[in-house]
Amino acid sequence: MDKVRAELQQLADAGLRRRMRPIDGPQGPELVVDGRRAINFSSNNYLGLAGHPILQRAAARAADEHGFGAGASRLIAGNLAPHRALEQRIARWKGTEAALLFSTGYQANVGMISGLLGPEDVVFSDELNHASLIDGCRLSRARTVVYRHADADDLAQKLAAAPPARRRLIVTDSVFSMDGDRAPLVELVALARRFEALIAVDEAHAVGVLGEDGVGLCAGLGVDLQMGTLGKALGGFGAYVAGAAPLVELLLQRARSFIFTTALPVPVVAAAHAAIDWLITDEGRAARRQLAANVDWMAARGYPRSHILPIQIGGARATMELSEALLQRGLFAQGIRPPTVPPGTSRLRVALMATHTEAQLASLVDALADLRIR
Ligand SMILES: *Cc1c(COP(=O)(O)O)cnc(C)c1O
Repeated sequence: MDKVRAELQQLADAGLRRRMRPIDGPQGPELVVDGRRAINFSSNNYLGLAGHPILQRAAARAADEHGFGAGASRLIAGNLAPHRALEQRIARWKGTEAALLFSTGYQANVGMISGLLGPEDVVFSDELNHASLIDGCRLSRARTVVYRHADADDLAQKLAAAPPARRRLIVTDSVFSMDGDRAPLVELVALARRFEALIAVDEAHAVGVLGEDGVGLCAGLGVDLQMGTLGKALGGFGAYVAGAAPLVELLLQRARSFIFTTALPVPVVAAAHAAIDWLITDEGRAARRQLAANVDWMAARGYPRSHILPIQIGGARATMELSEALLQRGLFAQGIRPPTVPPGTSRLRVALMATHTEAQLASLVDALADLRIR
């Protein structure tokens, strides 16, 4: 146990020991953080759906009708009507032949890559991809080639230089989770076609928020596999991979994070279905417009044009001190440290929501100026 304690102490000494803050909800533009009311700039609940009565009611109705748990994996006895309906709904929304539910985005990414690739394959991965994509690459045991962030030229060189393989796969976030910028998807798809590779895109931070009907950034581009989570803008829990029927079926056959796990509880599935339906209601459209207006409001004050604003600090300890100083002022912007981001690039990650008021945004801008962060 001494060695374990020493390891924890090392993390603390490096300013990297994390702790789970007690949060009291419901999830909204304000939260109670460590017992103190604060404006919430730290959640991925971009449209305010996590606390929305539409999801609450859909989940409650489904529980009344079907009970709670699915009881088994999808391939044993857990393939219930609400799962099948949600997969069809996602495929229709995405304009793909098929979609497959996973329990979480983490499992979707791990299963998507390790289900498609083996040691005889090559995967090309953006250097700032989400940890779940990185872990999928590792678990697949495919040769992994990391290309420079959002750099299609670097990827082209690496594709040209790579030895022959049974299968090649390009993987990228569409909106990068800790940077808020976007992958050059049109160029990446063109490279995939030119080099006979597949391309899989993680839309975790785009679905619900960006694109017509909140469909994300891949629509109409020819992306082979679109992964998305139901836990961020869609306000619930779960995830999917959508694409051509044979690819999706191969995942059903091979993705161990799909096969060897219990199907999602029915109320969770029903809430996700309601959330996707909500995206194309007047209220859903208005929420997307309001989030875009909030992004514009911050951009007019010199911030990047994204709902994810990285405020670079550098050192891990300094970042956490500034996050704490903001919290003292009633503003919650979580500090992000390695290994979530590369060493020396610790940052505050500010996430904007449709439900933030202009006064709340102004209080953040003023506090950052006051603390001489920006
Ligand atoms: C959050 C996130 C995931 C994981 O999704 P969960 O449903 O939370 O497991 C995957 N990829 C990216 C880019 C993410 O930000």
